Amino acid sequence: MSDVAPSNPLRIDPESKADPMSTAELNPSKRLSKNIKSAPLRIADTSVMSVSGLFKSYGKGTVQVPVLKGVDLEIEEGGFTAIIGQSGSGKSTLLHLLGTLDAPDSGEIYFRDQRIDNLSPRQQEHLRNREFGLIFQFYHLLPELTTLENVLIPRMVQDGFFRYLKNKRAYRKRAIELLEMVGLGHRLTHKPSQLSGGEMQRTAIARSLISDPSILLADEPTGNLDSENGAEVMETLTALRKHENLTVVMVTHDDQLAAQADRVIHLVNGVVAA
Ligand code: ADP
Ligand code: MG
Repeated sequence: MSDVAPSNPLRIDPESKADPMSTAELNPSKRLSKNIKSAPLRIADTSVMSVSGLFKSYGKGTVQVPVLKGVDLEIEEGGFTAIIGQSGSGKSTLLHLLGTLDAPDSGEIYFRDQRIDNLSPRQQEHLRNREFGLIFQFYHLLPELTTLENVLIPRMVQDGFFRYLKNKRAYRKRAIELLEMVGLGHRLTHKPSQLSGGEMQRTAIARSLISDPSILLADEPTGNLDSENGAEVMETLTALRKHENLTVVMVTHDDQLAAQADRVIHLVNGVVAA
Protein backbone atom coordinates (compact mmCIF):
# COMPACT_ATOMS: atom_id res chain seq x y z
CA MET A 1 0.00 0.00 0.00
CA SER A 2 1.15 3.51 -0.64
CA ASP A 3 1.46 6.25 1.89
CA VAL A 4 -0.86 8.40 -0.20
CA ALA A 5 -4.48 7.55 0.46
CA PRO A 6 -6.77 8.41 -2.47
CA SER A 7 -8.95 10.61 -0.30
CA ASN A 8 -6.08 12.69 1.05
CA PRO A 9 -5.52 16.14 -0.37
CA LEU A 10 -2.54 15.98 -2.64
CA ARG A 11 0.69 17.73 -2.31
CA ILE A 12 1.17 19.76 -5.43
CA ASP A 13 4.57 20.77 -6.62
CA PRO A 14 4.68 24.54 -5.93
CA GLU A 15 6.74 24.97 -9.09
CA SER A 16 3.77 23.90 -11.13
CA LYS A 17 1.95 27.08 -10.17
CA ALA A 18 4.89 29.38 -10.79
CA ASP A 19 4.70 29.92 -14.50
CA PRO A 20 2.17 27.64 -16.07
CA MET A 21 2.40 29.09 -19.53
CA SER A 22 6.16 28.77 -20.04
CA THR A 23 7.78 25.42 -20.84
CA ALA A 24 4.53 23.62 -20.08
CA GLU A 25 2.96 25.08 -23.23
CA LEU A 26 5.79 23.75 -25.33
CA ASN A 27 6.31 20.45 -23.64
CA PRO A 28 3.22 18.86 -22.17
CA SER A 29 5.16 15.74 -21.22
CA LYS A 30 7.48 17.78 -19.07
CA ARG A 31 4.50 19.51 -17.53
CA LEU A 32 2.74 16.28 -16.65
CA SER A 33 5.72 14.59 -15.08
CA LYS A 34 6.49 17.79 -13.22
CA ASN A 35 3.01 18.10 -11.77
CA ILE A 36 2.59 14.51 -10.76
CA LYS A 37 5.05 13.45 -8.11
CA SER A 38 6.10 9.86 -8.17
CA ALA A 39 4.74 7.75 -5.36
CA PRO A 40 5.61 4.19 -4.43
CA LEU A 41 3.62 1.84 -6.63
CA ARG A 42 1.35 -0.59 -4.87
CA ILE A 43 2.34 -4.12 -5.69
CA ALA A 44 -0.49 -5.80 -7.56
CA ASP A 45 -1.02 -8.98 -5.62
CA THR A 46 -4.78 -9.20 -5.26
CA SER A 47 -7.66 -8.91 -7.64
CA VAL A 48 -9.96 -5.96 -7.13
CA MET A 49 -12.57 -7.14 -9.64
CA SER A 50 -13.40 -10.58 -10.89
CA VAL A 51 -15.80 -11.75 -13.49
CA SER A 52 -17.03 -15.26 -14.11
CA GLY A 53 -19.19 -16.76 -16.80
CA LEU A 54 -20.43 -13.45 -18.15
CA PHE A 55 -23.00 -13.65 -20.95
CA LYS A 56 -24.62 -10.73 -22.73
CA SER A 57 -26.73 -10.66 -25.90
CA TYR A 58 -28.53 -7.88 -27.64
CA GLY A 59 -31.89 -8.42 -29.20
CA LYS A 60 -32.27 -7.55 -32.85
CA GLY A 61 -35.95 -8.05 -33.58
CA THR A 62 -36.70 -11.56 -32.42
CA VAL A 63 -33.08 -12.63 -32.88
CA GLN A 64 -30.66 -12.48 -29.96
CA VAL A 65 -27.13 -11.62 -30.99
CA PRO A 66 -24.64 -12.97 -28.46
CA VAL A 67 -21.79 -10.57 -27.68
CA LEU A 68 -20.19 -11.94 -24.51
CA LYS A 69 -20.22 -15.73 -24.35
CA GLY A 70 -18.78 -16.68 -20.99
CA VAL A 71 -16.15 -14.09 -20.06
CA ASP A 72 -13.91 -14.89 -17.09
CA LEU A 73 -11.29 -12.43 -15.92
CA GLU A 74 -9.62 -10.84 -12.95
CA ILE A 75 -8.42 -7.28 -12.55
CA GLU A 76 -5.33 -6.81 -10.41
CA GLU A 77 -5.54 -4.13 -7.76
CA GLY A 78 -3.26 -1.21 -8.56
CA GLY A 79 -2.52 -2.52 -12.04
CA PHE A 80 -3.03 -1.10 -15.51
CA THR A 81 -5.05 -3.65 -17.45
CA ALA A 82 -5.83 -3.24 -21.11
CA ILE A 83 -8.72 -5.16 -22.66
CA ILE A 84 -8.14 -5.42 -26.37
CA GLY A 85 -10.36 -6.70 -29.14
CA GLN A 86 -11.55 -5.84 -32.62
CA SER A 87 -14.26 -3.31 -33.21
CA GLY A 88 -17.59 -4.94 -32.32
CA SER A 89 -15.97 -7.61 -30.14
CA GLY A 90 -17.88 -6.46 -27.06
CA LYS A 91 -15.27 -4.32 -25.27
CA SER A 92 -17.63 -1.47 -24.48
CA THR A 93 -20.31 -3.96 -23.47
CA LEU A 94 -17.88 -5.58 -21.05
CA LEU A 95 -16.67 -2.27 -19.62
CA HIS A 96 -20.26 -1.11 -19.09
CA LEU A 97 -21.00 -4.33 -17.23
CA LEU A 98 -17.90 -3.88 -15.05
CA GLY A 99 -19.08 -0.34 -14.28
CA THR A 100 -22.64 -1.51 -13.49
CA LEU A 101 -23.97 0.67 -16.29
CA ASP A 102 -25.68 -2.39 -17.74
CA ALA A 103 -26.63 -5.84 -16.45
CA PRO A 104 -25.37 -9.18 -17.78
CA ASP A 105 -27.81 -11.89 -18.91
CA SER A 106 -25.93 -14.28 -16.64
CA GLY A 107 -22.64 -14.55 -14.82
CA GLU A 108 -21.21 -12.78 -11.81
CA ILE A 109 -19.15 -9.66 -11.23
CA TYR A 110 -17.36 -9.03 -7.95
CA PHE A 111 -15.80 -5.82 -6.71
CA ARG A 112 -13.51 -6.64 -3.81
CA ASP A 113 -15.55 -9.37 -2.11
CA GLN A 114 -18.95 -8.06 -3.00
CA ARG A 115 -21.09 -9.25 -5.85
CA ILE A 116 -22.16 -6.12 -7.72
CA ASP A 117 -24.07 -7.21 -10.84
CA ASN A 118 -27.20 -7.96 -8.81
CA LEU A 119 -27.21 -4.94 -6.49
CA SER A 120 -30.18 -2.59 -6.56
CA PRO A 121 -29.93 0.39 -8.92
CA ARG A 122 -29.48 2.63 -5.90
CA GLN A 123 -26.63 0.55 -4.51
CA GLN A 124 -25.02 0.44 -7.93
CA GLU A 125 -25.25 4.19 -8.24
CA HIS A 126 -23.63 4.54 -4.84
CA LEU A 127 -20.83 2.22 -5.95
CA ARG A 128 -20.29 4.15 -9.18
CA ASN A 129 -20.16 7.43 -7.31
CA ARG A 130 -17.70 6.19 -4.70
CA GLU A 131 -15.48 3.63 -6.36
CA PHE A 132 -15.60 3.93 -10.13
CA GLY A 133 -14.28 6.68 -12.34
CA LEU A 134 -15.56 6.41 -15.90
CA ILE A 135 -13.94 7.82 -19.02
CA PHE A 136 -15.31 7.48 -22.52
CA GLN A 137 -14.12 8.18 -26.04
CA PHE A 138 -16.26 11.31 -26.09
CA TYR A 139 -15.75 13.70 -23.24
CA HIS A 140 -19.32 14.70 -22.40
CA LEU A 141 -18.28 18.09 -21.05
CA LEU A 142 -20.96 20.72 -20.58
CA PRO A 143 -20.17 23.46 -23.11
CA GLU A 144 -21.45 26.36 -21.01
CA LEU A 145 -19.29 25.51 -18.01
CA THR A 146 -15.60 26.14 -17.40
CA THR A 147 -13.05 23.36 -17.03
CA LEU A 148 -13.14 23.77 -13.25
CA GLU A 149 -16.95 23.69 -13.12
CA ASN A 150 -17.07 20.61 -15.34
CA VAL A 151 -14.75 18.79 -12.94
CA LEU A 152 -17.00 19.74 -10.02
CA ILE A 153 -20.21 18.45 -11.61
CA PRO A 154 -20.18 14.94 -10.09
CA ARG A 155 -19.87 16.47 -6.61
CA MET A 156 -22.75 18.87 -7.31
CA VAL A 157 -24.93 16.01 -8.50
CA GLN A 158 -24.02 13.63 -5.68
CA ASP A 159 -24.24 16.11 -2.82
CA GLY A 160 -27.31 18.16 -3.51
CA PHE A 161 -27.37 21.89 -3.07
CA PHE A 162 -26.78 22.47 0.66
CA ARG A 163 -24.16 19.81 1.22
CA TYR A 164 -22.34 20.94 -1.90
CA LEU A 165 -22.28 24.54 -0.67
CA LYS A 166 -20.92 23.39 2.67
CA ASN A 167 -18.08 21.41 1.07
CA LYS A 168 -17.54 23.62 -1.93
CA ARG A 169 -14.22 25.08 -0.82
CA ALA A 170 -12.64 21.64 -0.30
CA TYR A 171 -14.06 20.31 -3.57
CA ARG A 172 -12.77 23.34 -5.47
CA LYS A 173 -9.32 22.86 -4.00
CA ARG A 174 -9.32 19.20 -4.98
CA ALA A 175 -10.63 20.00 -8.48
CA ILE A 176 -7.82 22.50 -9.01
CA GLU A 177 -5.28 19.96 -7.76
CA LEU A 178 -6.60 17.38 -10.20
CA LEU A 179 -6.57 19.84 -13.09
CA GLU A 180 -2.99 20.74 -12.22
CA MET A 181 -2.08 17.06 -12.16
CA VAL A 182 -3.47 16.53 -15.65
CA GLY A 183 -1.55 19.58 -16.84
CA LEU A 184 -4.49 22.00 -17.01
CA GLY A 185 -3.74 24.30 -14.11
CA HIS A 186 -3.58 27.15 -16.61
CA ARG A 187 -6.94 26.31 -18.18
CA LEU A 188 -9.29 26.51 -15.19
CA THR A 189 -11.62 29.12 -16.63
CA HIS A 190 -11.59 27.95 -20.24
CA LYS A 191 -14.73 26.56 -21.79
CA PRO A 192 -14.58 23.22 -23.64
CA SER A 193 -14.72 24.99 -27.04
CA GLN A 194 -11.43 26.69 -26.13
CA LEU A 195 -9.66 23.40 -25.44
CA SER A 196 -7.93 20.87 -27.68
CA GLY A 197 -9.29 17.31 -27.82
CA GLY A 198 -6.51 16.12 -25.54
CA GLU A 199 -7.25 18.90 -23.06
CA MET A 200 -10.95 18.01 -23.11
CA GLN A 201 -10.15 14.38 -22.39
CA ARG A 202 -7.77 15.37 -19.60
CA THR A 203 -10.57 17.50 -18.14
CA ALA A 204 -12.83 14.44 -18.29
CA ILE A 205 -10.12 12.43 -16.53
CA ALA A 206 -9.92 15.04 -13.76
CA ARG A 207 -13.71 14.94 -13.49
CA SER A 208 -13.66 11.15 -13.18
CA LEU A 209 -11.33 11.49 -10.18
CA ILE A 210 -13.14 14.21 -8.25
CA SER A 211 -14.93 11.66 -6.06
CA ASP A 212 -11.68 9.79 -5.32
CA PRO A 213 -12.56 6.51 -7.00
CA SER A 214 -10.38 3.43 -6.57
CA ILE A 215 -10.78 2.13 -10.10
CA LEU A 216 -10.79 3.96 -13.39
CA LEU A 217 -12.71 2.37 -16.27
CA ALA A 218 -11.74 3.90 -19.60
CA ASP A 219 -13.42 3.08 -22.90
CA GLU A 220 -11.11 3.95 -25.82
CA PRO A 221 -10.02 7.16 -24.07
CA THR A 222 -7.74 8.14 -26.94
CA GLY A 223 -10.10 6.96 -29.67
CA ASN A 224 -10.96 10.46 -30.78
CA LEU A 225 -7.48 11.94 -30.55
CA ASP A 226 -4.47 12.30 -32.83
CA SER A 227 -1.38 10.38 -31.79
CA GLU A 228 0.25 13.28 -29.94
CA ASN A 229 -2.83 14.06 -27.84
CA GLY A 230 -3.43 10.33 -27.40
CA ALA A 231 0.09 9.88 -26.05
CA GLU A 232 -0.48 12.70 -23.57
CA VAL A 233 -3.69 11.11 -22.34
CA MET A 234 -1.92 7.76 -21.93
CA GLU A 235 0.89 9.45 -20.06
CA THR A 236 -1.64 11.17 -17.81
CA LEU A 237 -3.41 7.90 -17.04
CA THR A 238 -0.16 6.11 -16.28
CA ALA A 239 1.11 8.89 -14.01
CA LEU A 240 -2.22 9.26 -12.20
CA ARG A 241 -2.44 5.55 -11.59
CA LYS A 242 0.84 5.62 -9.73
CA HIS A 243 0.23 8.86 -7.89
CA GLU A 244 -3.36 8.17 -6.89
CA ASN A 245 -2.93 4.43 -6.37
CA LEU A 246 -5.63 3.73 -8.89
CA THR A 247 -6.50 0.55 -10.67
CA VAL A 248 -6.89 1.34 -14.36
CA VAL A 249 -8.87 -0.75 -16.83
CA MET A 250 -8.76 0.53 -20.40
CA VAL A 251 -10.43 -0.99 -23.41
CA THR A 252 -8.87 -0.35 -26.77
CA HIS A 253 -8.59 -1.82 -30.26
CA ASP A 254 -5.04 -0.46 -30.56
CA ASP A 255 -2.15 -2.91 -29.98
CA GLN A 256 0.36 -0.14 -29.36
CA LEU A 257 -1.77 1.44 -26.65
CA ALA A 258 -2.48 -1.91 -25.03
CA ALA A 259 1.26 -2.64 -24.96
CA GLN A 260 1.66 0.27 -22.52
CA ALA A 261 -0.46 -1.53 -19.92
CA ASP A 262 1.10 -4.03 -17.56
CA ARG A 263 -1.42 -6.68 -18.45
CA VAL A 264 -3.36 -7.28 -21.67
CA ILE A 265 -6.59 -9.28 -21.88
CA HIS A 266 -7.68 -10.30 -25.39
CA LEU A 267 -11.37 -10.47 -26.10
CA VAL A 268 -12.00 -12.78 -29.06
CA ASN A 269 -15.33 -14.22 -30.19
CA GLY A 270 -17.02 -13.23 -26.96
CA VAL A 271 -14.52 -14.87 -24.60
CA VAL A 272 -11.13 -14.08 -23.12
CA ALA A 273 -8.49 -15.67 -25.34
CA ALA A 274 -5.92 -17.85 -23.60
P1 ADP B 1 -16.74 -2.78 -29.15
O1 ADP B 1 -16.75 -1.80 -28.04
O2 ADP B 1 -15.75 -3.90 -28.95
O3 ADP B 1 -16.56 -2.15 -30.48
P2 ADP B 1 -19.53 -3.17 -28.43
O4 ADP B 1 -19.49 -3.74 -27.06
O5 ADP B 1 -19.86 -1.73 -28.56
O6 ADP B 1 -18.16 -3.53 -29.18
O7 ADP B 1 -20.58 -3.97 -29.32
C1 ADP B 1 -20.51 -5.36 -29.49
C2 ADP B 1 -21.64 -5.80 -30.39
O8 ADP B 1 -22.88 -5.57 -29.73
C3 ADP B 1 -21.72 -5.04 -31.69
O9 ADP B 1 -22.09 -5.94 -32.70
C4 ADP B 1 -22.81 -4.03 -31.46
O10 ADP B 1 -23.48 -3.71 -32.64
C5 ADP B 1 -23.72 -4.74 -30.50
N1 ADP B 1 -24.38 -3.82 -29.57
C6 ADP B 1 -23.77 -3.03 -28.67
N2 ADP B 1 -24.66 -2.32 -27.95
C7 ADP B 1 -25.89 -2.66 -28.43
C8 ADP B 1 -27.23 -2.28 -28.12
N3 ADP B 1 -27.48 -1.41 -27.14
N4 ADP B 1 -28.22 -2.85 -28.83
C9 ADP B 1 -27.97 -3.75 -29.79
N5 ADP B 1 -26.74 -4.15 -30.14
C10 ADP B 1 -25.71 -3.62 -29.48
MG1 MG C 1 -16.52 0.23 -28.03
